[in-house]
Amino acid sequence: MKFIDEYRDERIVRGLATQIANACTRRWVLMEICGGQTHTIMRYGIDEILPSNVELVHGPGCPVCVTPLETIDKAIELASRHDVTLVSYGDMLRVPGSHSDLFQAKAGGGDVRIAYSPMEALKIARRHPDRQIVFLAIGFETTAPANAMAIWQAKREGLKNFSVLVSHVLVPPAIRALMASPENRVQGFIAPGHVCAVMGYEEYESLVQDFEIPIVVGGFEPVDLMEAVLMLAKQLEAGQAQVENQYVRSVNYEGNLPAQRVVREVFEIADQKWRGIGSIPKSGLRLRPEYAAYDASQVFGLEDISVEEPAQCISAQVLRGLKKPTDCPAFAMRCTPENPLGAPMVSSEGACAAYYRYRRHMVGPAESVHG
Ligand code: SF4
Repeated sequence: MKFIDEYRDERIVRGLATQIANACTRRWVLMEICGGQTHTIMRYGIDEILPSNVELVHGPGCPVCVTPLETIDKAIELASRHDVTLVSYGDMLRVPGSHSDLFQAKAGGGDVRIAYSPMEALKIARRHPDRQIVFLAIGFETTAPANAMAIWQAKREGLKNFSVLVSHVLVPPAIRALMASPENRVQGFIAPGHVCAVMGYEEYESLVQDFEIPIVVGGFEPVDLMEAVLMLAKQLEAGQAQVENQYVRSVNYEGNLPAQRVVREVFEIADQKWRGIGSIPKSGLRLRPEYAAYDASQVFGLEDISVEEPAQCISAQVLRGLKKPTDCPAFAMRCTPENPLGAPMVSSEGACAAYYRYRRHMVGPAESVHG
């Protein structure tokens, strides 16, 4: 297949659904890790096309959703300083901190700017040597290379007014934490194709061995996801546990080695708090000591803080696949995209936002795959 429409072809999707139904003799619970995959599932009604004995639950792969409340609060604190310009991806601005969000900080006079890449923040730093430019560097392995490159470049140029507030998370340790949990229901994972395009999928081998679960690297279109489900179903029915790659048009075993090199040059692995989930050992990235001058937490002496999630938000269970957004009493009532209580309702990749957009009140059919 060469064109995007072919990956959305209803005839192919329905054919795969028949193969999955024929393959499955019992009930299986599968998790797609990535929020982009969740949105495809909701948008095209993939979960409704699947046989009833295959349940898809949604994982923690939305970078905005898992950025800790404390990081948002620190960003708001920085944005309120008269000498700081806080630069961020746009969807972080509406993510609620413990008392407000970056939009409110901007409305209150803070210099908060939206950028599509950390290189834009570097440009602002070059243009405004009189101001401190802080980039909110969040995300999974996908955004880490660009963030690392910006920091490496800033050091190379000797920029003194650029730093980053880092909250980077890693997928494999999150899968390990999910599998180790006594509450876990997941029997197979669809790994995020874009993360594996950067990192390859070698590091998933130890997970399939340790937990005897199949993992399939999957893409983001309906046919990709249906193929990934079929590959998982075949493995599960055969009692196998291997790493397989459905997304061969973008992913190879080793990944993007130059991108991995620049990440390793700038960052080191560290324990990381995930919003709603808590701390997961060795699941994040922090700046290496050689790059401490670019660590906004150190530059501005930001203290470690600890804040509680709003009690009414059940995102911790949603992000671990234990509950669906529609199980949340606040869903579409007190929590909407216009007035979000939790991050999964804000982000374009959040599971709650996906359900709100495509399954709100379960009224009307989801947009269907087209022929
Ligand atoms: S619907 Fe809102 S309150 Fe409920 S889990 Fe999702 S983000 Fe949290």
